Amino acid sequence: MDRLQIKKVWVDRKVESRPLTRQILERLGGCHVEVVDSLEGVLRAIRLASDPVGESKKNLYLTEQLSFIRPCPCSPGCVSCGYWNIDLDLNCPFDCSYCVLQSYLNYQPLTVAINRDGLERELEEFFQKKGRIPIRIGTGELADSLGLDSITSNAIFLTELFRGKEGVWLELKSKSARIQPLLEVKPPANVILSWSLNPQAVIDSEEKGTASLKERLEAAAAAFKHGYQVGFHFDPIIHYPGWKEEYSQVIVSIFKIIPAEAIAWISLGSLRFPHRLKLLARFRFPESMIYEHEFIRSPEGKYRYPRPLRLYLYEEISQIFSDYGAADKLYLCMESAEVWQAFMQKIKRGRRFIAFPFPWLS
Ligand code: SF4
Repeated sequence: MDRLQIKKVWVDRKVESRPLTRQILERLGGCHVEVVDSLEGVLRAIRLASDPVGESKKNLYLTEQLSFIRPCPCSPGCVSCGYWNIDLDLNCPFDCSYCVLQSYLNYQPLTVAINRDGLERELEEFFQKKGRIPIRIGTGELADSLGLDSITSNAIFLTELFRGKEGVWLELKSKSARIQPLLEVKPPANVILSWSLNPQAVIDSEEKGTASLKERLEAAAAAFKHGYQVGFHFDPIIHYPGWKEEYSQVIVSIFKIIPAEAIAWISLGSLRFPHRLKLLARFRFPESMIYEHEFIRSPEGKYRYPRPLRLYLYEEISQIFSDYGAADKLYLCMESAEVWQAFMQKIKRGRRFIAFPFPWLS
């Protein structure tokens, strides 16, 4: 089971006396705490470490966030799924060798926005302005949605904020199995609990600090039994000898405990990374083999498996989901229009550069 390993808490003076700050400090009990006027001093302490990215995951910064909601930037030239992000936490206590946050966040410590009232105001405006297009929104892009939940209780806070909001689906996406608080409330129909999945061999070698596959699936089964819809993300899919058998076993395990009807959506995405991430990851994870493969440089500058291999991975996995009647739940994450077209013959439920992954709206 995942565990937090925070060695120091930095408190932005602006939020020092806020009740949520007090609550988090109490929950962390005994941690070294320092009050600061800005992020600069925190970053200096992190940058001087031998592994600044690893160090960033052991330092917690409690602060204010100016704005919270933004459309997912997807990847230039790729087909967007129209997702929206809520940036309530930044950075993640887990340590995946392929995580783009290592190169993207510039050593930002684990950061928690204490001014959740600001998010409430922004969301009210967001709900009022949104049109008739259904919206998926989540906290899992710049953080793991449940990674810091044992100290923030953000999952319950968000679940209650979204309860009853029509046409908006909140997704809490995680590699954690800590969902107990969510099992103590009535599940809103528009809150989806989702898990990123990989074979246990990949979790062991590439996803340090996360819950095991068994724990994630047990959490998903508990969520389903409680009445939540669930989602799954096979992203990044890693290609290695024996990949197909191992991914098949993961998919078979899902349907032993969860029926296809309970699944809201399933995304597929293959390993991709900017060049800088590969250099960093080779230094931080010298035992990882995922970067020892043939890649092509795609137009937006990221490295990916060659297109025929990506299609092969998606088609093989899709075939297994078809066997369980769940192929209509699939969509591709950060893929080119050419791959979407080849994979699905057409981009369903959307236009050429936007796809709507809402199987129940077909
Ligand atoms: S769980 Fe997600 S956000 Fe956290 S380190 Fe892994 S890939 Fe990054």
